[in-house]
Amino acid sequence: VAHKETHGFQTEVKQLLQLMIHSLYSNKEIFLRELVSNASDAADKLRFQALSDNALFENDGDLKVRVSVDKEANTITISDNGIGMTRDQVIEHLGTIAKSGTKEFFSNLTGDQAKDSKLIGQFGVGFYSAFIVADAVTVKTRAAGEDADRGVEWYSKGDGEFTIGDIEKAGRGTDVILHLKEEEKEFLDDWKVRSIITRYSDHIGIPVEMWKEGTPESEGPEGEKIPATEGQWEAINKGTALWTRDKSDISDEEYEEFYKSIAHDFEEPVKWVHNKVEGKTEYTSLLYIPKRAPFDLWNREVKSGIKLYVQRVFIMDDAEKFMPTYLRFVKGLVDSNDLPLNVSREILQDNKITQSIRSGNVKRVLQMLTRMGENSPEEYAAFWKEFGNVLKEGPAEDFANKDKIAKLFRFSSTHTDSAEQNVSLDDYIGRMKEGQDKIYYITADTFEAAKSSPHLEAFRKKGIEVLLMAERVDEWMMSHLTEYNEKQFQHVAKANIDLSELDDEETKKAHEETEKAFESFIERAKTALGDKVKDVKVSHRLTESPAVITTDEHDMNTQMAKLLEAAGQ
Ligand code: ADP
Ligand code: MG
Repeated sequence: VAHKETHGFQTEVKQLLQLMIHSLYSNKEIFLRELVSNASDAADKLRFQALSDNALFENDGDLKVRVSVDKEANTITISDNGIGMTRDQVIEHLGTIAKSGTKEFFSNLTGDQAKDSKLIGQFGVGFYSAFIVADAVTVKTRAAGEDADRGVEWYSKGDGEFTIGDIEKAGRGTDVILHLKEEEKEFLDDWKVRSIITRYSDHIGIPVEMWKEGTPESEGPEGEKIPATEGQWEAINKGTALWTRDKSDISDEEYEEFYKSIAHDFEEPVKWVHNKVEGKTEYTSLLYIPKRAPFDLWNREVKSGIKLYVQRVFIMDDAEKFMPTYLRFVKGLVDSNDLPLNVSREILQDNKITQSIRSGNVKRVLQMLTRMGENSPEEYAAFWKEFGNVLKEGPAEDFANKDKIAKLFRFSSTHTDSAEQNVSLDDYIGRMKEGQDKIYYITADTFEAAKSSPHLEAFRKKGIEVLLMAERVDEWMMSHLTEYNEKQFQHVAKANIDLSELDDEETKKAHEETEKAFESFIERAKTALGDKVKDVKVSHRLTESPAVITTDEHDMNTQMAKLLEAAGQ
């Protein structure tokens, strides 16, 4: 090994290694999933680059992954003939973490192992998971298109630094060699490795091979000769990309494993939709709803979870044009038959095909969520807890679908006065009073403040339900959601709410009399308050409190005014 150098890992890598080794012990075999998926990604990347430079195949277009164990050397090796890495790429990819929000992620860890291991699962451990079972890892790699003497060797004990040097490597691609810890020798067992890889890699589109020993010549039960066989590499997976297969041939478990491998999630997804669309635009989509929100759901640079393939060739991760931002929690892929293989992010922008696939995706996800809301309320409640506030960005971003999106919303309301958000707009409408034509709601800083607002007194007295909103996004969301199923929304803190329609004759008369009786008091109050208020009126809306401050129909409500004030406006 020439030009040997020692480098330190980025601080976050050190933290990741520490945490992983201690907290992922019960999931340790995932290192195989991560390394085989990296090998398969490397094949995808090579295939993609070779579209414009066929020479990169170096006359070896049979892309595959090989896994082998060496009982003497105590190693397990994952080899691929994919894209490989240059020296600079090795230093960058195997020494740092290139994910947005990494720093914040690590600063949020609690030190509680049980909690942190859940988080680390959502973060995605990738290559570094090798150190769960290995006390040292060697990587030998040579980038496609480079000469054999431009190979690179990386070596680390996972203790804070790695060395890197130059080597000869005739074959293109990467070998990852794990020197197993004494107590992890079970991973030298051929059968065990085989069964794990079959589970993790059945959906991978290229062959994953393991060595099958030959057998000597032997005799059958009737004395007949059974000829010797030679040892050979044997594919242990189907080798067809999962989404290209027929739905009826794919088991739930296969869908779940596929999800875990593309989403780097430890948990099963909640639901998925798999569709082959034929006709004007032809494509396949496979879209999943995760159980839990990722750590960076609120990070502005968060990557979309959609992969793009064109005619089964992987084109890009993070294909954000195929899913609107308010559905950014959806993971999965789109495989288009119509887009060109040399498609770029620029081409995807303002592209008819992209738009048609995107609106198809939105339709399917909204449908899936609607059904879930109707058929499995408990599952839906858990979904709403994780992702409800993201969905609330929907009416602003996707006006055309606003009724479908609003149908998915769940709120607290005066019907139960419980903080749990489980009232849908359809529930609300079903309980509306005779003569009531509006959906009433209130926004406040906290649920308690909303629930105990004096604005609610009259509504409570009349038995009119009011939605109680106290999430940060609610105010803004409601400024984009003015009606649902042709019913207007009405903030109860705005003046001129006329509930008298719902009153009987006697009450109306009583109200008129009260107003008369208070005329002179109102005059005095107006003089006393002067410019501080627009108007002073007798209200029939209060039952307990003596007075209430309200805003005009067209003015900002007090909540929004406070927000702007806080922002210095
Ligand atoms: P991720 O796969 O999510 O990017 P990993 O930690 O698994 O994260 O891998 C980090 C990076 O290292 C990859 O993005 C890739 O650039 C590089 N890499 C890892 N394994 C291989 C491989 N077998 N061939 C080529 N590059 C690889
Ligand atoms: Mg990876």
